Amino acid sequence: MDIRYWNKDVETADVQKIRHLQLQRLKSIIASALKTPFYSRRLPSVGINSPDDIKTLDDLRRIPFTMKDDLRQNYPKGLLSVDTSEVVRIHTSSGTTGIPTVIYLSAKDLDAATDIMARSITATGAGRTDILQNMMSYGLFTGGLCMHYGAERVGLMVIPAAGGNTKRQVSLMNDFRTTVLHITPSYLLHIHSKLAEYGVKVGDLALKKAFIGAEPHSEGTRRKIEELFKIDAYNSYGLSEMNGPGVAFECVYKNDLHLWEDAYIVEIINPKTGQLVPDGQEGEVVLTNLIRHAMPLMRYRTRDLAFLHIEPCKCGRTHRRLSRILGRSDDMLIINGVNMFPSQIEEVVMKIPEVGNNYQICVEKDGALDRLIVKVELYSKMFLGEAKQIDNLKSKIGEELKASITIKPAIELHEPGSLPAFEGKAVRVVDTRPKL
Ligand code: AMP
Ligand code: ZN
Repeated sequence: MDIRYWNKDVETADVQKIRHLQLQRLKSIIASALKTPFYSRRLPSVGINSPDDIKTLDDLRRIPFTMKDDLRQNYPKGLLSVDTSEVVRIHTSSGTTGIPTVIYLSAKDLDAATDIMARSITATGAGRTDILQNMMSYGLFTGGLCMHYGAERVGLMVIPAAGGNTKRQVSLMNDFRTTVLHITPSYLLHIHSKLAEYGVKVGDLALKKAFIGAEPHSEGTRRKIEELFKIDAYNSYGLSEMNGPGVAFECVYKNDLHLWEDAYIVEIINPKTGQLVPDGQEGEVVLTNLIRHAMPLMRYRTRDLAFLHIEPCKCGRTHRRLSRILGRSDDMLIINGVNMFPSQIEEVVMKIPEVGNNYQICVEKDGALDRLIVKVELYSKMFLGEAKQIDNLKSKIGEELKASITIKPAIELHEPGSLPAFEGKAVRVVDTRPKL
């Protein structure tokens, strides 16, 4: 295994050392937070008036959670701790679900975030000789620029392709012998389904690795990507509120994601009660950013559901690993009273070998009842066989889904390329039921 470190001392530091560093950094973040309109009201209300009021890491739990709504209500400057002359970059969330949220970075903050990104890239074994095609969108979204800066710092050659224009993406990969991709898993699968049309074979390309993230995906999807492209795919997790990608990243063992604990304090809570869950148990990920001072954010509720591995990783890093994101506490579907996450459906369908590169989950009203329809693309060779084979496959998919989500959805099988494709984050669920 090609185990490389970016900052070995920190990456392999013993737990006590990491906790000590976290406490020092938390105090310093509290000092910055007290300069923001938002936290200068909130912290004194729980008796925190200075960094000295934080004696141990447990004191963090005196601070109430910060919610996405807090960011919205304090848009645009309520969480800014410095004069804008100190700010070198802003990013905002898309705002598709309401008022956008904004993050601010000082030069020092950007430097720290870039370093964490460089560390993440290095953990996968990528380095100076690699050529990275960055297909995440550049601009207000963090995915493109943050990876770009991190990769430049490591010394990879970066192709700032951004998302979209699939034909050109493939030409770029071919012409510049791209070895690493940064991309959403759904877009990567879409690219695969276009290769034949462009007259390109996987074997013509020089791909070795892909950093896949920004959207939920199952282990089956990762395997499919790895098999189709003959590459290693590494899960990359991040969110704009925490500076974007690089919060947690897989190392060469691809056994879930090291969450960089010198930069973030992670708590896993029961989303209903807000209480910490025991180690190793699933819950909502809550993050405190320890490396951003221009806009401090503490105990931010991500809504992402995951658990922490307690066992150490073979790579020697001591930072705990976050599981793949199992769902979001706000994307649960309730179908005729049965709760399920879209990720459970993906988990099943993407493991079925006949299923191709895309799927969609539709929910509609059928009289008084809800109707769940799972649409999957098949590889074209499947349509050459007998009709009976197709029928058997339909019932197999239906049965396997029933075993996981307890209800049997209607299954539709589609030709490759016929379901909506996405160049960035995929929208998998189309729920046309009237909102209550
Ligand atoms: P954004 O703030 O637009 O970058 O979106 C961040 C959200 O994307 C996270 O809170 C997750 O819900 C999702 N996300 C990012 N990376 C991953 C990943 N590797 N696996 C699953 N979901 C992810
Ligand atoms: Zn590891």
